[in-house]
Amino acid sequence: MLKINYHISVRVIIAHQCIHDELSSRISCYRAGSSVLIGPKGFQSIGLCDTYKRTPCTYICKQEDVVSAELIDFFNSQILPNITEFFERYLTVNAPDHKVLRTIINCGEAYDIDLSRGFKGDFMFYVSAHPIVTNTESIAYSLTCASHAHNDAPYVGLINLQPAYFQRFLNETARKSNLLVEWMQAYRILLHEVTHSIGFSKKLFQFYINRLTGKKYVNVTTKSTTNGLSPSGESFQYTSQSITTPSVRTVVANHFNCDEQNGAELENIDNNSSGIVGSHWKSTKFGEELMLTNTMPISPFTNLTLALLYDSGWYGLINLDKIESTNWGKGKGCYFANQTCSMSTWNYTGYWPAENNKVGCSASRSGMGMASWTEHSRNLPVYQQHWSNSTIGGNGGAEFDYCPFSKTSIFCFDTSQSNSSNNFFDDRGDRHLCFDQIINSNNSLDYIQMGCREYRCEVDGTLQVKVNQKWYSCQPNDRVVVNENITIVCPDEFDQTCGTSSFDIDTDTLSEPYSGYNSAISSFNPKQTLTNNVIIVTLVYLLLYIF
Ligand SMILES: [Zn+2]
Repeated sequence: MLKINYHISVRVIIAHQCIHDELSSRISCYRAGSSVLIGPKGFQSIGLCDTYKRTPCTYICKQEDVVSAELIDFFNSQILPNITEFFERYLTVNAPDHKVLRTIINCGEAYDIDLSRGFKGDFMFYVSAHPIVTNTESIAYSLTCASHAHNDAPYVGLINLQPAYFQRFLNETARKSNLLVEWMQAYRILLHEVTHSIGFSKKLFQFYINRLTGKKYVNVTTKSTTNGLSPSGESFQYTSQSITTPSVRTVVANHFNCDEQNGAELENIDNNSSGIVGSHWKSTKFGEELMLTNTMPISPFTNLTLALLYDSGWYGLINLDKIESTNWGKGKGCYFANQTCSMSTWNYTGYWPAENNKVGCSASRSGMGMASWTEHSRNLPVYQQHWSNSTIGGNGGAEFDYCPFSKTSIFCFDTSQSNSSNNFFDDRGDRHLCFDQIINSNNSLDYIQMGCREYRCEVDGTLQVKVNQKWYSCQPNDRVVVNENITIVCPDEFDQTCGTSSFDIDTDTLSEPYSGYNSAISSFNPKQTLTNNVIIVTLVYLLLYIF
């Protein structure tokens, strides 16, 4: 097991003043019809935001942008504490109680961040809630604002919540019913953003400290090139970039059950949003994880992302027995880990479908969805071609290299979809996964219908499924007759629902991470340049999520 070198859970401190004091009145909307300046401090507006869609601009507040007392209370009671507690649950740092900083920094917003009195904690997050004018569909963005001089560990960040998006969650009933999936997704997106700010960013990799040497890594990432042949016979070269730090390599090898891999591959697809490439895990390889390009309602914070944060040299880990895990690719071996998807490498339940438009349990069993392929109007990139017709691509889209798989569209956690009439065949909840069932319907032939069921894993790894308040052991390929109407089809021998998500790192060889402390900072101030009278603000890290 992992030896814990660090003293205390990371203390993530939220600075709320940006959403409810006068400081923020210049950037947040407090009444409809008023105007605010969105953009970095010290620059004049170039005009109306609705016209230019870029900052600095003048924004005319709409009703949905208004940061009401109710919205502030919602942020402060329902969102921010859950975020801070989430990271405190898993991460530790070795740091003094109180930081004395005596400095004022700017993080590309219209206001300065005053750290002159220091703060008692390890990571200070400034929270703001002003309209995101570059894309009104965005939910939030985050920034890394400052890092320590002695080890480059980030310690000040900023997160901006789009008020218009979060208004819908004020109604608690809606949040727990018809908006439950959307709410879960929003929460996961915020966790995703914070994870970027505290270390998972290609801009920060260069500062990671190797625990073995106490010095910066020579290479955190490694590029590798493979040669392949498309189904139509066209040859291609595929160059991937992977994180190759020690713990990440170990976790990936354990996850896939494959020692011959290049580490954890990073996303290479940019879907028109800055900062995607190189700052997320490759979707095709890691399927359902918090740090994929597209954050889904089920996006577990797995041992993979924790391993990366650990390898940064800035954090220790705790509560590893409570980490979230994903089934995607688990135990699927080197072909899955290293090769492109195909009928043979992805020949598992929920992955490559036997037929087009196949509805079934998703690969992770988190729910159900349809796997399909379709003809595109152009040839796909050769390495993403999986059929002899080079225009055909699977429903995974570009990030998933056009591989076909059952993408979860109905989630087993979504209790809002439960009702007394369908609980018999389908039961929803937090500890529920999707299973195939044979349904005996009196007057017609038996048929397969998937349904969500509560599950648990016995100490010996046996899967158990709960139906009508009773637990049934489900051995690979067995069929469990529950009653005359329902037979559960147990997953096959490749299923890893009860497989472990181990974190087997040889900690005896790990040295105590650098624990020095220096009150000086190296600030990540935005670099501002003027080009053709258009102000371009280059931020260290900025991601907008569009759904
Ligand atoms: Zn991201």
